[in-house]
Amino acid sequence: MAFLKLLARNRLALGGLIVMGVVVFVALITPILPLADPDATATADRFKPPFSEGAILGTDHLGRDLLSRLLWGTRLSLAVGFAAAFIAATLGAAIGIIAGFYGGRTDNVIMRGVDMLMAFPYILLALAIVAALGPGLLNALIAVAAVNVPFFARNIRGITVGIAHQEFVDAARLAGMRNSEIIIREVLPNVLPVIVIAMSTTIGWMILETAGLSFLGLGSQPPQADLGSMLGEARSALITNPHTSIVPGTMILIIVMAINLLGDGIRDALDPRLKSGALSRPMAATQVERRENAPAAQTGALLEIADLRTEFRVRSRVYKAVGGVDLHVEQGECLGIIGESGSGKSVTALSVMGLVASPPGVITGGAVHFDGTDLIGAPYRQLRSLRGRRVAYIFQDPLATLHPLYRVGDQLVEAIQTHESVSKSTARARAIDLLKSVRIPNAENRIDSFPHEMSGGMRQRVGIAMALANDPDVIIADEPTTALDVTVQAQILSVLSDLRRERGLAIIFITHDFGVVGQLCDRVAVMYAGRIVEEGPTGEVLRAPQHPYTSRLIDCVPTLGGGQRKLAAIPGLPPVVDRLPDGCAFADRCDKAQDVCRAADIALGETGEGRKTRCLFPETTQKGAA
Ligand code: ADP
Ligand code: MG
Repeated sequence: MAFLKLLARNRLALGGLIVMGVVVFVALITPILPLADPDATATADRFKPPFSEGAILGTDHLGRDLLSRLLWGTRLSLAVGFAAAFIAATLGAAIGIIAGFYGGRTDNVIMRGVDMLMAFPYILLALAIVAALGPGLLNALIAVAAVNVPFFARNIRGITVGIAHQEFVDAARLAGMRNSEIIIREVLPNVLPVIVIAMSTTIGWMILETAGLSFLGLGSQPPQADLGSMLGEARSALITNPHTSIVPGTMILIIVMAINLLGDGIRDALDPRLKSGALSRPMAATQVERRENAPAAQTGALLEIADLRTEFRVRSRVYKAVGGVDLHVEQGECLGIIGESGSGKSVTALSVMGLVASPPGVITGGAVHFDGTDLIGAPYRQLRSLRGRRVAYIFQDPLATLHPLYRVGDQLVEAIQTHESVSKSTARARAIDLLKSVRIPNAENRIDSFPHEMSGGMRQRVGIAMALANDPDVIIADEPTTALDVTVQAQILSVLSDLRRERGLAIIFITHDFGVVGQLCDRVAVMYAGRIVEEGPTGEVLRAPQHPYTSRLIDCVPTLGGGQRKLAAIPGLPPVVDRLPDGCAFADRCDKAQDVCRAADIALGETGEGRKTRCLFPETTQKGAA
């Protein structure tokens, strides 16, 4: 259904679909229409003009009714075109899948054969095949299908090669599936859309090719009419009685146009990348639609996020990923943001520099005060000059953020030269210093390594070095240690902690691990369903969490040497952010929830020195004696 909706959004494709629908429908019901016999000659009635009595479209050189011949001919041409496309697609796809899946010698032998077929011009090859088989509609069909097989085989082979080496195919093999099963269950579903797409865009061609062969007298044989043979027979009367040519010619034009428009539409609607909007180029900065005025800065901190609201608009749904977040970080301070996966931490972080992809992301309210200016809705030039220079990011997976084909040194140099016009050698010397500052041993040699030559921890250090390249004031680290093991994580944390002290860096550290927060952060903000539910100095929050969610999160952290303790899991799941409840978003998972919790919005209230909690019944107990 989603497919039909997407298709309908494309006006031209919809037009093609409607025209094609009408043509196919008429072709289907032709046998039951009250038409004259298409092959009945009446020499007395030759070349009747259109709109004559008894022959709406006139008659041809043998006095046959053109309307009747047109409809029967369309029926035949469509049938042959579709059949040829179906045969070519099936054969070509089978050949392509086998070549691509088995690879090696199989691939070589098959593809060289295909190449040989492709070496001849299309129509010449088709002519040769019909010449060998003898004229006739069936042979024309075979010829047209045969010349199109290589096209499908090549296309599908390319796709299959890409799929055959992917992990899910390996997994299927490990699970003990036979090759034939893998092809049918794993590979075929992935190539099927491509086959349909290739088919829908080539049927038009095949109908034309069949018509071409019939035009030359090699396809349908008299008296049987198809669109090509009608054109061929009308050739000699082109000047004297043009309607005999115009009638079948117009029909060919209509059919091929409609099929091609429809084919384009099908291709767009079936391509999953187009569906997710990935091919529509994201804007340079997140789209901003602020309904109210920007809130003024309150704290005078280096970076202050005030009532930030970011949502995703996906078709008719609106996902409120960030629903009014207030945060601030001072120079030299480390602020932790903690919350379950999906609570809106990354979107908050990316909104700061307008890095949320638009579409579908839209910032609908709030302000980000950095060094005296509001960055929300700031001109792209200003954002770009700040990105990486004043505010830098470190992401979770350094293998995904480092370019696999460049040496890490070149990438560092690039990061430096983006914001500063320094010579390559100066930049390189700086890059070596940077690698040293994140404690990469033997930095002079390591600078020429490729990302894949480094371990995960090394790569993340390079990621940190890149963030440091332009001496930023704020580093936003989005789960930088989640992909690393515990010992490497400890090293990375200590590097970050030292850098903060040496350079007076402000760090916003996003994580889902309270252990990490405890090691690094001065203050911590707990996020749930796109809002801050508790904020305060790390030690105090850990010792005496006030929001039940915080308390439950802390209970989820395993401790060593504390004896056996039952690890608490939080029951239920976080709410989906396109249908947030009225009151407390955590109420459904909270054992203290009462009716008032669900009644109305709950404010983030002051609950002590530097502490804030969004809860009507805050916890009062202290955590463990430790
Ligand atoms: P996390 O706290 O794990 O970093 P995120 O900030 O990435 O969470 O995501 C917050 C919410 O925003 C999630 O519920 C997610 O489903 C939604 N979201 C993120 N990116 C998109 C997107 N491109 N389209 C729609 N929803 C999104
Ligand atoms: Mg995230």
